Amino acid sequence: MKRGVIQMEKLAIFGGKPVRTEKISYGRQWIDESDITAVADCLRGPYLTGGPTINKLEDKLCEITTAKHAVAVSNGTAALHIACMALGIKEGDEVIVSAITFAASANCALYCGATPVFADIRPDTYNIDPEDIKRKITKKTKAVVAVDYTGQAVELDEIKKICKENGLFLIEDAAHSIGTKYKGKPVGSLADITTFSFHPVKTVTAGEGGACLTNDEGLYKKLRLLRAHGITRDIDEMVNKSDAGWYNEQVMLGYNYRMTDFQAALLLSQLEKLEKFSERRKEIAKKYDRAFGDMPELILQKTIKESDTTRHLYVLRLNPDKLSCDRREFFDALVAEGIVPQVHYLPVYRHSYYEKLGYKKGLCPEAEDLYEHILSIPFYPLLSEEEINDTITAVKKVAAYYRR
Ligand SMILES: *Cc1c(COP(=O)(O)O)cnc(C)c1O
Repeated sequence: MKRGVIQMEKLAIFGGKPVRTEKISYGRQWIDESDITAVADCLRGPYLTGGPTINKLEDKLCEITTAKHAVAVSNGTAALHIACMALGIKEGDEVIVSAITFAASANCALYCGATPVFADIRPDTYNIDPEDIKRKITKKTKAVVAVDYTGQAVELDEIKKICKENGLFLIEDAAHSIGTKYKGKPVGSLADITTFSFHPVKTVTAGEGGACLTNDEGLYKKLRLLRAHGITRDIDEMVNKSDAGWYNEQVMLGYNYRMTDFQAALLLSQLEKLEKFSERRKEIAKKYDRAFGDMPELILQKTIKESDTTRHLYVLRLNPDKLSCDRREFFDALVAEGIVPQVHYLPVYRHSYYEKLGYKKGLCPEAEDLYEHILSIPFYPLLSEEEINDTITAVKKVAAYYRR
């Protein structure tokens, strides 16, 4: 309600003429005619769900990631949920999660009755701090959910070593990082279970969609069961073995987390363009790095050489020593200029739901400090050169106005 007023004031401050009149936001999908044709072809065929396009998609995900097994599901949150279930996470367990992430990375532990324990981020890369993981381990810790924030891989070798030494499972929440390589190896093949999201703002989309990747056959079988009610047609998995043609058996409590075949068709078509999308994202990131790299008002996310990153988000951190405004004012001024940023993320435990569970402010100081100063600017492969330049112009204009 008040926001409109603030924007009008900002427009007046900036002389009434915004950089852009047609607003652009931080992310959007890129759908072309080949995607539409792929979906239409699937819709004309016999299978809308539970069909062969799902198998093709899973093969493709294995090919891209070099993981042995893939299980496509209805969204990234479902992928995280069944990942926790497959690993046997239950009431009384603790799961260590990065504080700076989308709520789903922690909610998956709550779904299983376990307790999310938040680890702080490294102040430079904004990824989970391996040292803080070590500090947060207790006798109850069962797993770590490490998020490749903005697409940059977490310090996998270090985190895997910690997990191994302490008998913990590693779930890599790679919702941001399909296409990223860590030390030359694709994300998806490196953790006990890796999860993807194919929401429209992510690098490739199925409308809604997700997947679990694993190299472990036992986990793969559990993930498949959990995706579809816990019902099996495989006689080896049955308790009351029956080889009758109609017989299937529920052997555990699963869900209906299936992806449809036409979503899989869309995603397969998108994955054909993953490399193109990835190159374009890298190109835009370079342009932004060049434009903002030497501005004292802004701090850029540190990149680590181990990660060859397909960037999902481009995050600017405001330098409070060099700006007279707070993040709210910077954000509103950018909106007034036609650039609509977003903030990724409120530390999960600062959501009121988590506060009610008893989580307190001050738990992860680096995460809280980051949250106060960041915003994600428009960043997606379909951005035109003009839109990229407008974004740069608007950020520089606002930074210059508030420079101190
Ligand atoms: C998007 C996202 C998810 C959830 O994915 P959905 O497909 O929207 O359910 C989980 N974790 C992170 C880090 C995400 O960005």
